[in-house]
Amino acid sequence: CGIVGYIGNKEAQDILTAGLKKLEYRGYDSAGVAVYNGERIQVKKTEGRLAALEGMLERQRLPGKVGVGHTRWATHGKPSDHNAHPHVDNTEKIAVVHNGIIENYLPLKEELTSKGHTFVSDTDTEVIAHLLADLYDGDMVTAVQQAVKRLEGAFALAIVTEYEPDRVIAVRQASPLVVGVGNGEHYVASDIPALLPYTRHVYVLEDGEMAVLTKDNVQLLTTDGTPIRRNVQGVKWDV
Ligand code: GLU
Repeated sequence: CGIVGYIGNKEAQDILTAGLKKLEYRGYDSAGVAVYNGERIQVKKTEGRLAALEGMLERQRLPGKVGVGHTRWATHGKPSDHNAHPHVDNTEKIAVVHNGIIENYLPLKEELTSKGHTFVSDTDTEVIAHLLADLYDGDMVTAVQQAVKRLEGAFALAIVTEYEPDRVIAVRQASPLVVGVGNGEHYVASDIPALLPYTRHVYVLEDGEMAVLTKDNVQLLTTDGTPIRRNVQGVKWDV
């Protein structure tokens, strides 16, 4: 399973699929991407190999310079197109990719369903998109921090939202995530090999940390909101 996120001046689709390929060794049963096209977020996802996703994207490209991608190793809900990530909320303005398990997804799903949210997958992950929609009040970083307090389990998340399309938000809690620093562009991925074609400057996130990526900046902070100062790390090895 794997996560890739991108924001910059290049076409996100190409970076996301190339990055996911580098993460194939981690195993997966489905794949998908969400790209913001300047107006809205478009999602393409499918059960099966990355080649199947690439075929879909060849027939219909998703233009845009910010997005997230995912390869899924199903834990909750069988491998299927519907259960593939990214998952979106009912307004389709928030897209989430997730590696890991949300242990308390059932009570959250019940709570959010009673508030009017409609679920379309069998995954634990989908609660995150609806929870963020429920909590969002003008600042997605705050919404993510509040959501994380309610999530139990292991997760690495990457989030894009139409509300704030100039950023990608990433969070780590017991699943790996690495931020890649480029020139006028930033990346996030489950592992360094996905970044190496583009940059050798990385920040490795620790548990309870998040990153807010914009084209020109990356902000590291704890999920409690404390800013983190950390030197960028140089990667000297090759794959
Ligand atoms: N638990 C999530 C699911 O089954 C994410 C699995 C993964 O890490 O790919 O959809």
